[in-house]
Amino acid sequence: MRVPFLDLRAGYAELRSDIDNAISEVLAHGHYILGPQVSAFEAEYAGYVGSRFCVGVGNGLDALHLALRAFDVGPGDEVLVPSNTYIATWLAVSMCGALPVPVEPTTDTMNMDPSRLEAAVSSRSRVVMPVHLYGQPVDMKPILEIARRYDLRVVDDAAQAHGAKYRGERVGNLADATAWSFYPGKNLGAFGDGGAVTTSDKLVAERVARLRNYGSRSKYINEELGFNSRLDELQAAVLRVKLRVLDDWNSRRSAIANLYRQGLAGTGLRLPEVLDGVEPSWHLYVVRTAHRDALVEALQDRGIEILVHYPVPPHLQGAYSESGFLAGSFPKSERIHDQVLSLPIGPHLTIEQAEYIIAETRAVLPNILTQD
Ligand SMILES: *Cc1c(COP(=O)(O)O)cnc(C)c1O
Repeated sequence: MRVPFLDLRAGYAELRSDIDNAISEVLAHGHYILGPQVSAFEAEYAGYVGSRFCVGVGNGLDALHLALRAFDVGPGDEVLVPSNTYIATWLAVSMCGALPVPVEPTTDTMNMDPSRLEAAVSSRSRVVMPVHLYGQPVDMKPILEIARRYDLRVVDDAAQAHGAKYRGERVGNLADATAWSFYPGKNLGAFGDGGAVTTSDKLVAERVARLRNYGSRSKYINEELGFNSRLDELQAAVLRVKLRVLDDWNSRRSAIANLYRQGLAGTGLRLPEVLDGVEPSWHLYVVRTAHRDALVEALQDRGIEILVHYPVPPHLQGAYSESGFLAGSFPKSERIHDQVLSLPIGPHLTIEQAEYIIAETRAVLPNILTQD
């Protein structure tokens, strides 16, 4: 059997006629940038996550970047970020000229450890940027409390958490602003780049709306230095179709996660742990073993496509070589990066494929775990 990591073509096939119609409508309508589709999607997505506002932007990195700019983050400022995340979280901070200050994760969830946050706060700290990595909501309550105590804003990176819930509430209205990516492989994915900021703060929404469009609210009047980062009409029309199936597609992911949890229990693999009161979006199903490379190779040999999220932490990337972070400076994150692998999960992975992955993993593990 051949199992791809994620089958995006199957997503299109399921929705083909609705997507084709939506795209034809945009083409025939003649309004291609900041038109009715973007406005409609913004209203629908804000309604979905429970925020007052949503502003569509060009991609997830820009969503993070413009949200930080909306809080006037700039040179000399520090932003608290997870040491274990995708590099985009850090890059958004660097784009503002500010300094990313890493906070180590908890070993169980691999997300930012609230008990280590306070020690990283300084007089230059402006914003905390927790990430709901792999679709597991961060423990936001203690983070929001610390942020309030030190008068910091909170911008959460929800690029992997569309539809996830924290204590009964959807991610998207838990913080001062939430940044989203609609990259094709995300739980809510476009057929190209896309992103958004959700917030219930009117001033923040207005500021992001201005920053994404040349610092302008009315044509040819530029109130501040802005950018060009707009969600386009075609992607917005696609996202409106896909938003209608998001809950269904997430529940299929969750069914796969349940199969893995039952089928891989007791194998020696460390499986994802879910906090009480949290509903992940299961963007990724990330397991851990000290024998990661051997397991990846064995599964690839059996036709199962495995990815690693992520092999190198941001502080050890060439991009941050000037920052002076040494190997060993964030050991919890480094250990995670050495041990993680992601099993295929997605709305179009079949039960048979998941059962094949479980059976093959169980078959190859005993040999791998006894190697040293
Ligand atoms: C995908 C992703 C981003 C960036 O989104 P793009 O749309 O690719 O710019 C940011 N943060 C996290 C955690 C992501 O997974």
